[in-house]
Amino acid sequence: MALLVQKYGGTSVGSIERIKAVAEKIIAYKNQGNDMVIVVSAMSGETNRLTDMAKQIDPAVRGRELDVLLTTGEQVTIALLSMALHKLGQPAVSYTGAQVKILTDNAYNKARILSIDSGNIQQDLAGGNVVVVAGFQGVDEKGNITTLGRGGSDTTGVALAAALKADECQIFTDVDGVYTTDPRVVPEARRLKKITFEEMLEMASLGSKVLQIRSVEFAGKYGVPLRVLSSFVEGEGTLITSENNEDDTVEQAVISGIAFNRDEAQLTINGVPDTPGVAYQILGPISDANIEVDMILQNVGADGTTDFTFTVNRNDYDMAFSILRKTLEKLGARVASGNNKIVKLSIVGVGMRSHAGIASKMFQILAKEGINILMISTSEIKISVVVEEKYLELGVRALHEGFDLAEK
Ligand code: ADP
Ligand code: ASP
Ligand code: MG
Repeated sequence: MALLVQKYGGTSVGSIERIKAVAEKIIAYKNQGNDMVIVVSAMSGETNRLTDMAKQIDPAVRGRELDVLLTTGEQVTIALLSMALHKLGQPAVSYTGAQVKILTDNAYNKARILSIDSGNIQQDLAGGNVVVVAGFQGVDEKGNITTLGRGGSDTTGVALAAALKADECQIFTDVDGVYTTDPRVVPEARRLKKITFEEMLEMASLGSKVLQIRSVEFAGKYGVPLRVLSSFVEGEGTLITSENNEDDTVEQAVISGIAFNRDEAQLTINGVPDTPGVAYQILGPISDANIEVDMILQNVGADGTTDFTFTVNRNDYDMAFSILRKTLEKLGARVASGNNKIVKLSIVGVGMRSHAGIASKMFQILAKEGINILMISTSEIKISVVVEEKYLELGVRALHEGFDLAEK
C-alpha cells in the first residue's frame, strides 16, 4: 500500500463536471489500496478574478487582506471535491491550510512553509478517509492567513508529501508532463520521461511555470519523488529525479529544454563616472525598494565613463525607472533609458557541462533568424539571452529546432 499526495491544478478542477471526474479518479487510486491526500487549487481563473476585484479598490494592493481574499478560492474547491467524493460513497475530509496547520512565516502574499502538523491527516487516513487540503495557503504563528505566491499549490503538495513521507507527489495538470519547452509555443515540443531536479529548478526559475520554483527546491531538498501528469489523459508523465541513471546517459541530450520569461524589463544608465562604488550607488536604492535585479552588464567606454544595464521584473519597471532617474542626477550621469518590451530566452541542460561550443551554437541559431541579442548570462547548466519581445516565438522555435529537441 502506498501513500500518494496528488495535486490538481486550476484547469483540472475548473468546473463541477471536472471536479466530479477528479473525484472518480481519486477513488480509483484509493480502491487500488493507496492512501490518498489531495491538494487542490482554486477553480481556473478564480485567483485572477479575486485579484482583479482587489485591484479595483487599490491597484497596488498587497498584504494581509489580500491573502484573506485569495485563500477563499481554494476553500471553495476543497469543499466541492469532498462533497463529490461523499456523493460517490467515499469518506473524505477537507482542510484549509490553517486547519491542517501549515505553519508559515508572516510574509503575506509570498510566505514560506515552516512546518506542517500532520497529526489530523494521519488520523483521518487511518480511518479510511481521503484527505483534501487547500493548496497555496497557510497560517502564521499568530493565526494570520498567508499565501505562498502564485502557483503555490505545487509547493503545498510537495511539502505535504515530505511531511507525510509519501511514496510520490503527483502534480496533475493540463499537460501530460514536462516538455522540452512550453507546448503552447512549440507544438512539436517533446515530453521528457525524466528531468533532474537541478534542470527542473533552472527551467522553473527561468520562466517555465509548469511547477512553482519553490516546489522543485523543496522536493530536491527533502528527496520527494515528484511526477507531473495530465488530469485528462493516461500516461506516465515526467519524473523529476535526483540523477540520471546509466541507461539514460545514452539518450542524454546536451540541452534538455528551453525556457522563456515574458516578465522582463531592462534599464540602462549611460555616461556614469567610472569610480569605485558606482554599481552600489546604482543598485543600492533599487534593492532598498525591494526590487530584485536579475542580469547586470557594465561596460567602460573610451572616455572613462561607464554604461550600466540591468533587468528587473516588468511589474517593477516603473518604480525602478523613477529610482534610476534620481540616481542619474546624483551621479551626474548622461542619460537613463529603459525597455519593458524584452524577454529572456534560456537553454538548460546538465549535458552542457561537458560540451564546449553550446553558447556559440545558440548565438548562431539566433543570428540566422536576424534576432539581435541585447544581453547574455551563463551558468554551468544554462545560457540566457535577452531579446526584443517580438522575437519570443521565433527565437524559441528556432532554438528548439536548432538543438534538435523535437520528437524524432
Ligand atoms: P496548473 O493550473 O495545473 O497549476 P499551470 O498553468 O500552472 O497549471 O502549468 C501548466 C502549464 O505550464 C501548461 O499548460 C503549459 O502551457 C505551461 N508550461 C510552460 N513550460 C512548460 C514545459 N516546459 N512543459 C510543460 N508545460 C509547460
Ligand atoms: N490558485 C493559486 C494561483 O492561481 C495557486 C495555484 O493554483 O497553485 O496561483
Ligand atoms: Mg501551476
